[in-house]
Amino acid sequence: MTREAGFGFRDGVLHAERVSLATIAEAVGTPTYVYSAGALRAAARRFREALSPIPRKSLAFAVKANPSLAVLSLLRGEGFGADIVSGGELTAALQAGMAAGDIVYSGVGKTPAELAQALHAGVGHINLESEREGEVLAAMATRIGLTATALLRVNPDVDAGTHAKITTGKSDSKFGVAFAQALDIYDRLAGRAGIAMQGIAVHIGSQIIDPAPMEAAYRKIAQLVALLRARGHPITHVDLGGGLGVDYRGGADGDVLAYGAMVARVTRDWDVTLMFEPGRYIAAHAGVLLTRVLWVKPGSDCPFVVVDAGMNDLARPALYDAWHEFTAVAPTGKTIRAHVVGPVCESSDRFARACLIDRVAEGDLAVLRDVGAYGASMASCYNSRALVAEIMVDGDRHAVTAPRIAAAAIRTQSVPAWLEAAPLHHAA
Ligand SMILES: *Cc1c(COP(=O)(O)O)cnc(C)c1O
Repeated sequence: MTREAGFGFRDGVLHAERVSLATIAEAVGTPTYVYSAGALRAAARRFREALSPIPRKSLAFAVKANPSLAVLSLLRGEGFGADIVSGGELTAALQAGMAAGDIVYSGVGKTPAELAQALHAGVGHINLESEREGEVLAAMATRIGLTATALLRVNPDVDAGTHAKITTGKSDSKFGVAFAQALDIYDRLAGRAGIAMQGIAVHIGSQIIDPAPMEAAYRKIAQLVALLRARGHPITHVDLGGGLGVDYRGGADGDVLAYGAMVARVTRDWDVTLMFEPGRYIAAHAGVLLTRVLWVKPGSDCPFVVVDAGMNDLARPALYDAWHEFTAVAPTGKTIRAHVVGPVCESSDRFARACLIDRVAEGDLAVLRDVGAYGASMASCYNSRALVAEIMVDGDRHAVTAPRIAAAAIRTQSVPAWLEAAPLHHAA
């Protein structure tokens, strides 16, 4: 996907579709996430198009990449369901109008309360991470008088070859059941009342550009499907997870057409409904984080450009050493070598280290690009900073989809009465 689908320059000013980012900054302030509806639609359609050789499929957007109700509603309109990992994400998906049957519940730490919530809502598939989780779910469903449709998540022991913090399919990962134990666990779970086992789920990690590890994982799943069928299990669904990566440096993204062709080739004889859970691929390029330069201060080697967006607004650079391009909203054509840092009191609150960037001055607007996935969804109020605002642009329309909220308004706090009453203590 080219970034220009959503963001580009008009008369020297960066726009989201037809709306100037300077206009948005004036209206809403900074820092603010700005999403392009057109870029989201384009990526969603490109993904679906790439899977056109696959006869039976369902697409579920990984809500953790971007739980904005506006984003989820738009993707529902594109025929996407939701891949969720918490009760809060279930609420968001339902609120966005997604049908419960189009929701897949993944996640290694579902609480009994969350399982009950999912059962009552009628979630389409619950992806089991352990035998014990299946037992608890089966007992709960039997008690309520419902049947849960479930898949067993298997750990294929394949290294996705990406950053260690986003690799999920190696044998030492916490996700899924070990490949060697999957058959027996499946046998036992399929024999329980209260759950209808329909197949297997796999997800080996995120930001995967090279399709080879995915193919390796899917081939292992093919073996498992054949063995399960030989034991008499009717396998109707296989969830292939998400993970297709994007290029954050303006190069080529994971090749979605090659991915679709690979999946079609590997799964040709499976005779199942294939489920897909893309997150990053759909949303990453569809968002920028609009920020204002607070100060430009001298450094020992090159200056620090201090912006008003921090690691609490965009955690990926601090968390994964991720790179997001920094671009002035109204570039002069001149560049400088500088560090780009946020206001948070941590040295890891840094977006660029001695990089050649657009020359900016105090008060200028700039963006961090490609932050539509795992951007706002990871935002916090660290340093008691406000929770960042979000805007969606669609053509020449724009709307605030999440207002900026002061930290004090998010978590209402109280001081115990015994402390309030305590006498003041003065050091001598
Ligand atoms: C995070 C996650 C996804 C989405 O991953 P992307 O890399 O954003 O495509 C899909 N499925 C599961 C189970 C996940 O945990």
